[in-house]
Amino acid sequence: MNLHDTMIFLEKKNPGEKEFLQAVREVLESIKEVYNQNPQFEAVSLLDRLIEPERVIIFKVPWQNDEGRIIINRGFHVEFNSALGPYKGGLRFHPSVNLSILKFMAFEQTFKNSLTGLPMGGGEGGADFDPKGKSNNEILRFCQSFMDELYRHIGPETDIPAGDIGVGSREIGYLFGHYKRLVNRFEGVFTGKGTTWGGSWIRKEATGYGLAYIARKFLEEQNDSMKGKTVLISGAGNVALHAAEKVYQLGGKVVTFSDSDGYIYDPKGIDLALVKDIKEVNRGRIKEYLEKFPKTTFSEKRNDVWKHKGDIALPCATENELDLEAAQALYKNGCKLIAEGANMPTTSDATEFLLQQRAGFIPGKAANAGGVAVSGLEMTQNSMKLMWNREEVDIRLHRIMVDIHDTCVKYGKEKDGYVNYVKGANIAGFLKVAQAMIDQGIM
Ligand code: NDP
Repeated sequence: MNLHDTMIFLEKKNPGEKEFLQAVREVLESIKEVYNQNPQFEAVSLLDRLIEPERVIIFKVPWQNDEGRIIINRGFHVEFNSALGPYKGGLRFHPSVNLSILKFMAFEQTFKNSLTGLPMGGGEGGADFDPKGKSNNEILRFCQSFMDELYRHIGPETDIPAGDIGVGSREIGYLFGHYKRLVNRFEGVFTGKGTTWGGSWIRKEATGYGLAYIARKFLEEQNDSMKGKTVLISGAGNVALHAAEKVYQLGGKVVTFSDSDGYIYDPKGIDLALVKDIKEVNRGRIKEYLEKFPKTTFSEKRNDVWKHKGDIALPCATENELDLEAAQALYKNGCKLIAEGANMPTTSDATEFLLQQRAGFIPGKAANAGGVAVSGLEMTQNSMKLMWNREEVDIRLHRIMVDIHDTCVKYGKEKDGYVNYVKGANIAGFLKVAQAMIDQGIM
């Protein structure tokens, strides 16, 4: 593999897709040694096949707002790689959604799903629709119009979406309900469903809980624990809130949360129940926290969240939210571990800096794999037409996160003992996908 030439080729073919190019570069950087040591990969042009999605669908989503005006959004669906199983990934509704972002997520998802050990390929979809400020009826109409096209491409044995930014249990319910009307079948086509209609316990909590489990395992390797640790968290959505919940359960303390308007900081620890009330129940803004606790610090500079002192940093909002300056500040302040709850929240130069400093850093494809892992368990339960209890799912989730941790150590431990989790996750994820692609002929 010649990384430089491959990237030039890829940039020509995918102009302006900066997130996709960034994600591919990061993976190729980690796997190039293994790839070059195994000529059987190049003999079957594996690299060229790996970086091209199997299918991309772009479609119009027309819907009517409450004033009767017709609005047009753009829907996307990327089916990246099905070597290990049906396409599986999230759906994102956010105004920033574009093809590059969804291709990067679907590419990453391929390796993440491989790491879980469950039979799932990689995909991702969404729309440039902003659910913020929309009424329930507007959300319902948008979801139904989106599904009017998507239902043709998904199915329990083909492609099983889940939630992501802007797609929570309400949206999954509306999407699933409309799918069911269109195909006249009640089947496991979504994960993250309500627990009374085919969903799994712990799916909602899984990404955040899984993140806290892998962080704990990292600490245990150093004869340490979560007890008494100060944790910086960005975001205040599904991943952030459930990571915080588990951090508190394990004896840690969360001192920050953020949303796109800014962040809050309280060195004494943030009242999680209040944040949940503001964000989950009332769909409000994080600065409303100050109405009850006016002495809490609030700043509109949401990325300054990383300038505070913390033992652990869990970026859980969105891509490229933790830059070089932030990484340097965390390192200087003695942060022991940065574990990515979001997908690619750390910029490339920040990642490079952290790895050069031999800092504790677990990339999203390992650290946030708990969500898709429980999605995989939900698919299993749907196929078997049964439901495990909460405890059973939690035990399985915990086991999967510990296995992912140990796999990263196996493939990422360097001569001096430092564990490069980025390398470990990428190599382990890649080897399985590569072998399956070779086994299945030309795909
Ligand atoms: P939510 O929509 O529940 O929450 C997202 C949070 O991040 C909100 O607080 C939101 O603030 C903030 N945010 C979103 N976009 C931006 C932006 N451009 N700038 C600043 N803040 C932003 O999403 P999730 O918690 O589900 O997802 C968060 C991250 O975790 C994403 O990267 C997602 O891909 C990743 N992830 C999610 C999984 C899941 O199971 N849900 C699984 C694996 C990864 P605001 O309310 O202001 O928009």
